[in-house]
Amino acid sequence: MTADPPVPPTRGNPAGSEARATEVKPAILTGDDEPGVSRAVARDLRRRYGKDHRIVRAESGMQALDALREMKLRGDPVAVLLADHRMPQMDGIQFLEKAMDIYPTARRVLLTAYADTDAAITAINVVDLDYYLLKPWDPPEEKFYPIIDLQLDSWKRTDHKTVAQTKLIGHRWSARSSEVKDFLARNQVPYVSYLSDEVEGGRLLTAAGVDDTRLPVVITTDGEVLVEPTDTELASKVGLNTTPAEDFYDIVVIGAGPAGLGAAVYGASEGLRTVLVERTATGGQAGQSSRIENYLGFPDGVSGAQLTERARRQALKFGAEMITTRDVVAVEVNGSARTVRFADGGSIDAHSVILATGVSYRQLSAPGLDELAGRGVYYGSALSEAPACANLDVYIVGGANSAGQAAVYFSRYARTVTMLVRGPSLAASMSYYLIRQIDTIDNIHVRTSTEIVCGHGVQHLEGLTLRNNVSGDEEKVETGMLFCFIGAAPRTDWLDGATVRDKNGFVVAGPDLVSDGQRPIDWPLDRDPYHLETSIPGVFVAGDVRADSVKRVASAVGEGAMAVTLVHRYLEKR
Ligand SMILES: Cc1cc2nc3c(=O)[nH]c(=O)nc-3n(C[C@H](O)[C@H](O)[C@H](O)COP(=O)(O)OP(=O)(O)OC[C@H]3O[C@@H](n4cnc5c(N)ncnc54)[C@H](O)[C@@H]3O)c2cc1C
Repeated sequence: MTADPPVPPTRGNPAGSEARATEVKPAILTGDDEPGVSRAVARDLRRRYGKDHRIVRAESGMQALDALREMKLRGDPVAVLLADHRMPQMDGIQFLEKAMDIYPTARRVLLTAYADTDAAITAINVVDLDYYLLKPWDPPEEKFYPIIDLQLDSWKRTDHKTVAQTKLIGHRWSARSSEVKDFLARNQVPYVSYLSDEVEGGRLLTAAGVDDTRLPVVITTDGEVLVEPTDTELASKVGLNTTPAEDFYDIVVIGAGPAGLGAAVYGASEGLRTVLVERTATGGQAGQSSRIENYLGFPDGVSGAQLTERARRQALKFGAEMITTRDVVAVEVNGSARTVRFADGGSIDAHSVILATGVSYRQLSAPGLDELAGRGVYYGSALSEAPACANLDVYIVGGANSAGQAAVYFSRYARTVTMLVRGPSLAASMSYYLIRQIDTIDNIHVRTSTEIVCGHGVQHLEGLTLRNNVSGDEEKVETGMLFCFIGAAPRTDWLDGATVRDKNGFVVAGPDLVSDGQRPIDWPLDRDPYHLETSIPGVFVAGDVRADSVKRVASAVGEGAMAVTLVHRYLEKR
């Protein structure tokens, strides 16, 4: 098989993907087993169409089919298929029949000898043939180009547009499919998602040569097929950095939420060698917020994903390094160095560390919900599930701003959104601007003094039993979608024995470590800890994970920046 030089693939980069989509020329594929004829067809095609099209030549039906599958996986457009009728093993009609499953809108032309016109006419019905072309076709200006022009014109009028994007084929109620969608969305990797029982989903699985028993299947922009990929595998294939470039840094920032991003921007911009380590996706909780209305400088609000994506680019611009899908499990003191260890055994050293690991949502304890997580029960915003809520009755648990924002967001998709709030009103837990906004949206209902007793469903969520905690009345409601925002906890067990934490696991810092003039027990210096410094000198904490911090984007960003100033002071006075 031969083709014009392939266009270099781009991975996981929105701008790159768009660029590639406009660059990739639609293909005209010709399949003929006689090398002389095959070369002649390709030569004539190239002469007239080579500038705007990619001419792909195959010398058997199987080879042509392989070429098509590869192009399908990459998302390349294919305009015309020209197949010789009499090819051994797989004749032209059989090839076109299979090709129809992969590229249904490509125009199908059969090359046939005069003696085979009856077969060609039969093929019109079998493969919905667009044209049969008699060999020889000299002069091409008269007998060949007008036919191909016609096919190209017709193809341009069809809905054939493909954009080179990562493709995900999953199952509606598969928790891992939902996680992978969320991972791609939160990491700003453009993707299209298909269900395995949809026509296009089936076509992609066929092209990838896999079945639907192991989902999700992810197809990267350069056509690589990943079956049930892990986050780390995905990250490396879609262009996210997973390995640090250096062994030693000035600062390791752990967690890429607003606090970590703030620290990375200020650290790198002030010339410190800075690496930001993130377990899942840049943005942290803020990245999951559909609209942040109270962040300084954005009077019309800004989506959390937009805000944190800008911060990510800003940090990269200043030279910060970012690595994802690395879970930090220990911080150790090694002389003047601080060692950060990863769950997979790797480690990096630095002069200082900033802990910015934020908080995660608590799981609901009601029976029947645990096993349905990711299959109708979602924690945090799961914004990528919004299209799947179209015309459904959606339930949201929680009464804080995050729950309110989610209700407003999902109300644009769902038939109704019901907020389940344990307290008697929203006033105690939600900002006034959001309460007013919710009041104006007709399809949002707020049920106060309400708790979930249990969830129902086997394969996926089907309903909930609710209880009014004043009257004790119970009611069963039908729903397939529950989003939970019920308070958050710092996941800091891994710091046990390393730094001082309060009874809820939040990291204690600065003056709070000194009580009655006494510094922490193992504190080795003859000065008090700096303001955001933990009980390990040179290890600082910023954002939601800090004990008594204000749980807001602005304060997290501010603390991230301030921690960098304190790192400078620490480095100067060591
Ligand atoms: C849906 C929603 C809406 C919100 N809306 C608003 C709003 O409108 N206005 C407002 O001011 N605030 C809002 N908040 C709160 C705000 O987002 C948080 O206060 C802010 O994100 C805290 O930032 P942070 O960097 O401290 O932590 P986080 O945002 O929690 O980020 C911590 C990061 O650390 C990573 N991490 C954790 N442990 C590890 C580890 N061991 N190794 C590696 N990485 C790790 C996590 O994966 C995460 O990405 C909202 C929160 C949510 C969830």
